[in-house]
Amino acid sequence: MQFLGRRKKLEAGPRTELYGHCLQLYGQPPTENISLHEFETFAVDRLKLLKTVENLGVSYLKTSDQYSKKLDTEISTLQFPYRAYAEDKKTKTGASEYEKRRKDHISHFILRLAYCQTEDLRRWFIQQEIDLFRYRFNNLPSKSKTEFLHQNNLHYDTISKEEKISLKEKLVSSSYAVSGITVEEQDIYKVPFQEALDLVRSRRVYLKAGYVYIPHQDIITIVLNDFRTRLSKALALTARSLPVVQSDERLQPLLSHLSHAYVGQDYSIQKNIGKISLEQIDPLSSRSFPLCMRQLHRALRESHHLRHGGRMQYGLFLKGIGLTLEQALQFWRSEFVKGKVDTDKFDKAYAYSIRHMFGKEGKRTDYTPYSCMKVILSNAPSQGDHHGCPFRHSDPELLKQKLLSYKVSPSGVNQILELVKGMHFQLACQKYFELTHNIEDSGFSLNHPNEYFLESQKLLGGGREVDPPKGPSAPRPTAGPPQAQAPQAPAPQAPPEKTEDLECFFMDG
Ligand code: SF4
Repeated sequence: MQFLGRRKKLEAGPRTELYGHCLQLYGQPPTENISLHEFETFAVDRLKLLKTVENLGVSYLKTSDQYSKKLDTEISTLQFPYRAYAEDKKTKTGASEYEKRRKDHISHFILRLAYCQTEDLRRWFIQQEIDLFRYRFNNLPSKSKTEFLHQNNLHYDTISKEEKISLKEKLVSSSYAVSGITVEEQDIYKVPFQEALDLVRSRRVYLKAGYVYIPHQDIITIVLNDFRTRLSKALALTARSLPVVQSDERLQPLLSHLSHAYVGQDYSIQKNIGKISLEQIDPLSSRSFPLCMRQLHRALRESHHLRHGGRMQYGLFLKGIGLTLEQALQFWRSEFVKGKVDTDKFDKAYAYSIRHMFGKEGKRTDYTPYSCMKVILSNAPSQGDHHGCPFRHSDPELLKQKLLSYKVSPSGVNQILELVKGMHFQLACQKYFELTHNIEDSGFSLNHPNEYFLESQKLLGGGREVDPPKGPSAPRPTAGPPQAQAPQAPAPQAPPEKTEDLECFFMDG
């Protein structure tokens, strides 16, 4: 890819030469030095943007005004480039156009490093980047689109005026973008049909002898194909070079947290501590727990035991909703002794780990409740486990039965299963929230089981009992989803979440 170009939108100068257009194909990685703070801030901002793209794509038609309005706001607040600006001057939000383009470039490459690691992550990243690219390209003026194609050496073959005249009737009747008046003036590209399958599938293009004739307005289809192929190859290549990157001890923790990065509130701060009684847990579990915690609670009550993955996930969640250490010890002990564990064994084998979870043993770390992405992406449950995210880890038929048993209507179940099918697990959970709370729009972007609980309590009038935590709401590299939140200004980074150390203190049995 060539970023260089003679017809600059930005004022000419050495620093602007790199970014000749507001849109990029990200062909060349950045070569400049940046601080670790900038590295992480850029990456987290892009995650927020991509998460917004995902959420909006499921909630609204991509051609609707609401979609555009909300995405415009997010792009502008997070200071990414969007329109083809005429000058490199400071915008209202403070960053110059050059700074925005630089951020766009660098942040894309950082996320490549973080999201090349597994098939799931790659798929998610490519999908959101493509949706973002499509939106930005479609919003460019026609002239700027042409400039983009030239600057990136995307030279698709155009047909001659004579050919246009001979095919005029076919072109006009097969494409909305072509009219009898404009057909001779506009560029019509002739490309192999397999490069424009979307257009062929939706019968929006003239097809002849293995070639499609695409009007300039629809060129996005083949540009996107190109972008997808490049990105997919680039991610595979990046994955190969990961061992080298990961050997850098400064980057390794940042990257591993980024792929699970949670950009919402910090639920490790116990503002509600002691505000929940043990008697309240049963009714709360059916009213205000997300499905993952409801499932764990039920399994615990039924079998009087949870394996270590379940104890970790549920124990930290309960801590996050406000259980004190004493309450937690009492809660787990009273349940376990109903099963095969006597008090003595509980005190020897399990009590230490619970005190550890509350930062009273070992390194005395205040451990963070798991966010959705941590639950969804790590430590998948196996036979006999009850942890994980039911929307991600349950068989669809079992999930359906479970939802019906929780009084979700059949049409609601179908909506949820559709979202699950599209791998939008948190959105499926949000839909579950809306259906079980009888509201149309939950009004928040779900990132965290504890967020689900707090939002439910607020809605059900229990908000006074359980105040939201006042933790840093800016990017925090705890394990959690890259979910869109109300845009926040970048802030100093909190230390990574500490849970791995804790896991070894939990014994199976
Ligand atoms: S999306 Fe999050 S809160 Fe909902 S069930 Fe899955 S892990 Fe739990």
